[in-house]
Amino acid sequence: MNKFKINIQGMTCTGCEEHVAVVLENVGAKNIEASFRRGEAVFELPDNIGVESAKKAIDKAKYQPGEIEEIQSEEKMVLGDEGDYDLLIIGSGGAAFSAAIKSVEYGAKVAMIERGTVGGTCVNIGCVPSKTLLRAGEINHLAKVNPFIGLQTSAGEVKLAPLVKQKDELVSELRKQKYVNLIDEYGFDLIDGEAKFVDVNTVEVNGKKLSAKRFLIATGASPSLPPISGLEEVDYLTSTTLLELKKVPKRLTVIGSGYIGMELGQLFHNLGSEVTLMQRSERLLKEYDPEISEAIEKALIEQGINLVKGATFERVEQEGQIKKVHVTVDGKEKVVESEQLLVATGRRPNTDTLNLSAAGVEVGNRKEILINDYARTSNEKIYAAGDVTLGPQFVYVAAYEGGIVSDNAIGGLNKKLDLSVVPGVTFTNPSIATVGLTEEQAKEQGYEVKTSVLPLDAVPRAIVNRETTGVFKLVADANTLKVLGVHIVSENAGEVIYAATLAVKFGLTVEDLKESLAPYLTMAEGLKLAALTFDKDVSKLSCCAG
Ligand SMILES: Cc1cc2nc3c(=O)[nH]c(=O)nc-3n(C[C@H](O)[C@H](O)[C@H](O)COP(=O)(O)OP(=O)(O)OC[C@H]3O[C@@H](n4cnc5c(N)ncnc54)[C@H](O)[C@@H]3O)c2cc1C
Repeated sequence: MNKFKINIQGMTCTGCEEHVAVVLENVGAKNIEASFRRGEAVFELPDNIGVESAKKAIDKAKYQPGEIEEIQSEEKMVLGDEGDYDLLIIGSGGAAFSAAIKSVEYGAKVAMIERGTVGGTCVNIGCVPSKTLLRAGEINHLAKVNPFIGLQTSAGEVKLAPLVKQKDELVSELRKQKYVNLIDEYGFDLIDGEAKFVDVNTVEVNGKKLSAKRFLIATGASPSLPPISGLEEVDYLTSTTLLELKKVPKRLTVIGSGYIGMELGQLFHNLGSEVTLMQRSERLLKEYDPEISEAIEKALIEQGINLVKGATFERVEQEGQIKKVHVTVDGKEKVVESEQLLVATGRRPNTDTLNLSAAGVEVGNRKEILINDYARTSNEKIYAAGDVTLGPQFVYVAAYEGGIVSDNAIGGLNKKLDLSVVPGVTFTNPSIATVGLTEEQAKEQGYEVKTSVLPLDAVPRAIVNRETTGVFKLVADANTLKVLGVHIVSENAGEVIYAATLAVKFGLTVEDLKESLAPYLTMAEGLKLAALTFDKDVSKLSCCAG
C-alpha cells in the first residue's frame, strides 16, 4: 500500500467528508480520513492503483483536488524485543512527559533521564512560579493604585521571603501532582543523571550505557548571556535566580524586554521596585504589530516603568552592591544604576553536553536541534521536541511536539507537526495575546490584507474597569474575509485569545465573528467589535454591539 495526502477545495461540511470518502473507496482506497476543516484527505492505495485515478474521481464528484503528497510510511515499532528501552527520553519537562505518557499508552517500555529537577522549566522555574508571583504583584499594585473613587486601600512593604516560600510550596505541590506521581502511575523509569550520546544507538548516564530503539531529546533551553563587556564579572540575575530573591530591591534594571523581561520587570515594579527595562531595539516587541508595541509601551509608561530603547550596551560594572549599565542612546552616553540586574535576553538550547556529533544529530547555527516536519532529527532513530529545537517557546508547544514524537516514533503514524496557528500570551497587565499572522507577515505571504484596529476605550468591559489603554487588531484576507491574525493588548487578553485561535485555525471569517453573539461586558466582546469595525464606526453603536 502507498499512503497519500491530497488537498481538496470545496468540502464544506461532514457530509462532504463522507461523500469524498465514498468516492475514494470506490477507486480502491483504504483507511480514508477526509477533513473539510483541513481541506484534505489522507488515504492508502494498493500498489497497482495510481493516485491520479483518485484525483480524477474527486474532480468528477465536483470537488477541486489540488497538491498530492506521498506520505512515507514508517513501520509501527515492534515493542520490547531488543535494547534496554523502546523509547529513551533525555529531559523531564513538558515535552518529555507528554511523549512518555503517550508511549506507555502504546505499550512501549520508556525511561526518562533528568540531570536537574523533575518537571523541567515550566513547573519549577518558569510558568508556574512566575505566574503565581505575577498575581501577587497585581494584587499589591491594585491595593496601592486603583481607578475607583471612594475605595480606601493601601499596601505595606512587601515581605518577599514568605511570598517566595509560598510560591515554592505551590511549585513543589504541582511538581508532585503533575509530574513525579505520574511516573509510577504510568509506569516508566526515571534515571537521575546527565545523559550524553556515545554512538548512534547508545546513551551514557552515570557511567552506564543504555540502548534504545528510539530516542527523544527534550533537554529544553537555559538563559543566554548577551556579549556585553563586564557582564560576567557582576552579580547579575536570570529569570531563575530573580524568582528566588528574598528582598524586593530598591531598583531593578532589566536587560532585554522580550516577554520574560517584561513580565518579571512589571512583577517587581508591582512589588515596589523602581524598574528600568532596557533593550537594543527601537520598538518594544518589534516582531509584533506596531499597534501592539505602541499600546503596551503606553501602558508600561503610564504605570511608571522606565524604558530605555535603542540602546547600545557599552559595558556593565559593579561598585559595592550597585550594578551600573553603561549605554549609548541617540549618541548620548547614559548610566543606569540599580541594586539588582536581571538579564533576560533570550534562551539557548541545552545541547552542549549531549555529544550530538557521536549520534549524527545535526544542529543549527544557534546550536538548536534541527528537526523535520515529523520531529525527527538527522538520525532517523532520534527525535527532538520542545525548547531545544528553538521553536515557539511555550510549554503547550513542547507537550504537543512530545505527543507527535510518540505517535511517530512508537505508533508509526507519520504525523506532521502543525505549528501554523500558535497562540502566545505575555502575562503583563494589560496582557498581550496574539495568534496567527501579523499584518506584515500576511502581506509577505501574498495576501491582500484588510485590518481593523479597535482602541480599547471602545470596549465596554475596559470602560467599566476604567482601564482603557490597549487595542484589538484583526488581520483578514481582503478577498475571503478569513481571519488571519488577532492581536490584543487588554486585561485578560490571554483568556480572549483562545476564541481567536479557533477562528484562525478553522478559517472563520469576519462575518462569522460579526454574526456570533458575544456576552456583554466581557473582554472577548472586543473581538466582535473589532470585526464590526471593518465597516462601521463602533462608537456609534448602542450597547451590546447592536
Ligand atoms: C520565566 C519563564 C516563564 C515562562 N512562562 C511560560 C508561560 O506562562 N506559559 C508557557 O507556555 N511557557 C512559559 N515558559 C516557557 C516554558 O517553560 C518552556 O517552553 C517549556 O517548559 C519547555 O519545555 P521542554 O520540555 O522543552 O524543556 P524543559 O522543561 O526545559 O525540560 C528540559 C529538562 O532537560 C534537562 N536536561 C537538559 N540537558 C540534560 C542532559 N544532558 N541530561 C539529562 N537532563 C537534561 C533539564 O534539566 C530540564 O529539566 C516560561 C519560561 C520561563 C523561563
